[in-house]
Amino acid sequence: MRHLNRRRFLCNAALGVSAMAGSGAFCAVTKPVLAGVQISPHSLLDEGVERCLDFLQEHAAINALFCYSQTYHMGTRPLNVLASDHPTPPRKLDGRNLPHQWVRLPGAEFKGLAVGHERADPGREYAARDIFAELAEPCRRRGIRLYARILEAGMRRAARIPGYSRVGTVDLDGEPGQGPCWNHPEYREWVRITVRQTMMRYPLDGLQYGAERVGPLSDVLFRGEKPECFCEHCRDRNGKAGIDADRAQEGYRQLHRLMRGLAEGGAKPADGVFAAVLRVLMKYPEVLAWYEQWFRADSEIQAMVYREAKALRPEADVGQHVDHQRSSWDIFYRASVSYADMAAHNDFVKPILYHDILGPRLREWVIDRMQRRVLGDLSKELSLDLFYAVFGHDRATQPSYAVLPKRGLSPEYVFRETRRCVAGVAGGARVYAGIGFDVPQYVPSGMEPFPSDPATTALATRRALEAGAAGVVASREYDEMSLPNLKAFGRAVSAGQR
Ligand SMILES: [Zn+2]
Repeated sequence: MRHLNRRRFLCNAALGVSAMAGSGAFCAVTKPVLAGVQISPHSLLDEGVERCLDFLQEHAAINALFCYSQTYHMGTRPLNVLASDHPTPPRKLDGRNLPHQWVRLPGAEFKGLAVGHERADPGREYAARDIFAELAEPCRRRGIRLYARILEAGMRRAARIPGYSRVGTVDLDGEPGQGPCWNHPEYREWVRITVRQTMMRYPLDGLQYGAERVGPLSDVLFRGEKPECFCEHCRDRNGKAGIDADRAQEGYRQLHRLMRGLAEGGAKPADGVFAAVLRVLMKYPEVLAWYEQWFRADSEIQAMVYREAKALRPEADVGQHVDHQRSSWDIFYRASVSYADMAAHNDFVKPILYHDILGPRLREWVIDRMQRRVLGDLSKELSLDLFYAVFGHDRATQPSYAVLPKRGLSPEYVFRETRRCVAGVAGGARVYAGIGFDVPQYVPSGMEPFPSDPATTALATRRALEAGAAGVVASREYDEMSLPNLKAFGRAVSAGQR
């Protein structure tokens, strides 16, 4: 406790955060506010480093870059819709031969390990460029802090990472799963060396790490996907924790069968869907125990990343990316990993709080999917009401089911979620709110931009700071962000700096 208090003091002092009295619900930020932007290396190189940094600083008051060190996860888009009003218009990725590894890590460090990194290929565009080496001085000159942004890649892109499929998850039927196994020792070692070498080789001010995955219970109950991971490492770990792997697997199998039947239009169980799900959980309590271990493994990796980075550079600002499902709608994740837990091994926590795109996402990714499965006892409208009630939103001020594709949640969602995060970390970590604008949505014909309004963007940014965020991060990708919204973000940040 003494350590926490000292850390809290240092944390607050470093960013000029003053602990608020009153109900203790949140801290108020004075200055300076971290104003970050999520950006890909190719955007900086396409637009020109100096020109791009000037543009970001002048119009959006940016003082921190969160730049990918690898883009292994990135799809071959057109999954995004690009802005058209940057000084140099952003270029599409289609047909380009870009690298996925943007930093130079010594291959010898990974020798003997099952997983390595993409080798430099002189035939690729920008193959000769070294992004953090090139950014360091221009950022320093402008007072812009430079963060490495590391995002876990799924198995769909495994071919880009030598050996990656060897450390993958295993699903219910023993088939390869969708991501790396957090309990695979070789995967953990690969992450550890990657973080260590990145921090050693580049003068970074900080590092953000995160995985955009939830767990097997969400996979099966919300999406009807086959749960994972049941590999030898997970069975071994969970067995040592006293959990019977075969019984856990059988429980998941029964849930999967139940959800698949519902999604395929089968008859609902006579006692109702909730009762049928609870019946499995009561008969196989190993299902919940197995799930809880899954997120412990994720937290252990995050803690390892923190230790490695801080051991090399104690002054670095090292923290966690909390993706949209984890921050905003996955109740199992929320129950399993609290913001207080994250504060134990992070300097900052960055929850994704994209208010606009949450409208369409809520409809398509949450209500529609869940109502066909675990929420099968409820209508879609009632499912949305349940979501608003359970997650603490005011139903009267938020969109109805019918308008979700066209109307995002209000900036009050950003305020409430930031305040919850600030209260959760309780001074043990800083909170940087991920403010989303111009994020594209999926439509039958492909992608189209969600119409973000600059006044709402400014209000969402302001409300995050009013809720006690020590920073805000313009999201999701710089090449999608239009100038009017960048300016709105910048105005709100500048007002917050005063
Ligand atoms: Zn596993």
